[in-house]
Amino acid sequence: MEPVNIIGAGLAGSEAAWQIARAGVPVILHEMRPKVATFAHKTGDCAEMVCSNSFRSDDDVMNAVGQLHWEMRAAGGLIMAMADRHKLPAGGALAVDREAFSQAVTATLRNEPLIGFRPAEVTELPDTGNWIIATGPLTSDRLAASIRAVTGTESLAFFDAIAPIVHADTIDMSIAWEQSRYDKGETEEERRAYINCPMTRDQYEAFIDALLAAEKAEFHEGEMAGYFDGCLPIEVMAERGRETLRHGPMKPIGLTNAHKPDEKAYAVVQLRRDNALGTLYNIVGFQTKMKHGAQTQVFRMIPGLENAGFARLGGIHRNSFLNSPTLLDDRMRLRSRPNLRFAGQVTGVEGYVESAAMGLLAGRMAAAQAKGNDLPPPAFTTGMGALVNHITGGADAKTFQPMNVNFGLFPPLEEMRGGRRGRKERYPAYTARAKEDFRSWLAVQ
Ligand SMILES: Cc1cc2nc3c(=O)[nH]c(=O)nc-3n(C[C@H](O)[C@H](O)[C@H](O)COP(=O)(O)OP(=O)(O)OC[C@H]3O[C@@H](n4cnc5c(N)ncnc54)[C@H](O)[C@@H]3O)c2cc1C
Repeated sequence: MEPVNIIGAGLAGSEAAWQIARAGVPVILHEMRPKVATFAHKTGDCAEMVCSNSFRSDDDVMNAVGQLHWEMRAAGGLIMAMADRHKLPAGGALAVDREAFSQAVTATLRNEPLIGFRPAEVTELPDTGNWIIATGPLTSDRLAASIRAVTGTESLAFFDAIAPIVHADTIDMSIAWEQSRYDKGETEEERRAYINCPMTRDQYEAFIDALLAAEKAEFHEGEMAGYFDGCLPIEVMAERGRETLRHGPMKPIGLTNAHKPDEKAYAVVQLRRDNALGTLYNIVGFQTKMKHGAQTQVFRMIPGLENAGFARLGGIHRNSFLNSPTLLDDRMRLRSRPNLRFAGQVTGVEGYVESAAMGLLAGRMAAAQAKGNDLPPPAFTTGMGALVNHITGGADAKTFQPMNVNFGLFPPLEEMRGGRRGRKERYPAYTARAKEDFRSWLAVQ
């Protein structure tokens, strides 16, 4: 049988290799480390965790990451099995002994007779064969150039610039209102495409003070190379002058407060729809290097967002990722070259768990293809299905930025109460539905 080739033995590539071999299909795993280094990896081991040693929450009832853990365990995932084996005490989180974890992943893959290793950098996208590209946020420069040559220069970004994303049902619409600047747009929907949060002068001044005082995260050593000035963090804009934001992303012009038409706002924070479901909104132009704790405090100062629930917080990182909504089909294949499938962080998911989950999915799909079958993704009511649906279709391609798994990606349950208060009933219902639908997906394979 023709082997599946995988480029990159990180979290995604390792899981994909395991799934393919378990399906009885041979695999060739191409990994450039330790011959070619990245600024973040320290070893030549598979599935190295480059920063924190946590797979985040292990709660598969109330947490979407925990639900992904459950799905990966149910599908016989290697990353979860080795994480469970090398678990450290960490409350409700799944933290691991990182060295023992990646050594165990490496040893298991090396002991698997159907997996062969090619210790070399792949520098060109291959023309033929069944391939998975799982080269991660630090895809080597030569391969990145080849990906750009095939997909177009705008299609592979080298930095993310993530603005915080808010659950729509936690925005206080008695303060905020829907309107596009100058009521621009052909349709009523377009003319009401943004949610606007007004600020008085005092509120704006207090907000700038908080931004300037907030604790910021540093760039990792080597991470800044190639960083450009076009996506400045909001706190850097505020440092350049107290009025900079009011003339930039927070400008109040062309907007009329629907609740107080006679009152002119001193500044306005705008939120834009982030997914087709309309459950998530991003705060426009608010990419930031503030630490997560500081972000929630500062952003809840915005009128209308006092009780905001954040689906994800902002960040700026060195991160190679594709514009997946335009490039990939729902089988994670490049539309223009269907022999190439992408997996992991390079597809525009974010995090160890999400990357491994996308590796699991890509691996199963590639194995099915090698056997002459077609495997559709799981229903988008599941964690994996919700993520793959977001990156290959649900997200807005124009503003696409990497995404963590979160309940805002799950189709709402109509009869359930929205807002932060409804979470206690809603989240268990989401995860119960996800488990049932994930089991059905496994059963048809
Ligand atoms: C500095 C930094 C800190 C991070 N911190 C965290 C964190 O704390 N928590 C978290 O959840 N996520 C974190 N991430 C994101 C993290 O990288 C991903 O969550 C996860 O590692 C992605 O898995 P992956 O398999 O897609 O990529 P990786 O795990 O990076 O694996 C990609 C593999 O491909 C190899 N490769 C690249 N190019 C080639 C090539 N041309 N030929 C052959 N091999 C190649 C690389 O050597 C690597 O082994 C961080 C990322 C960075 C850059």
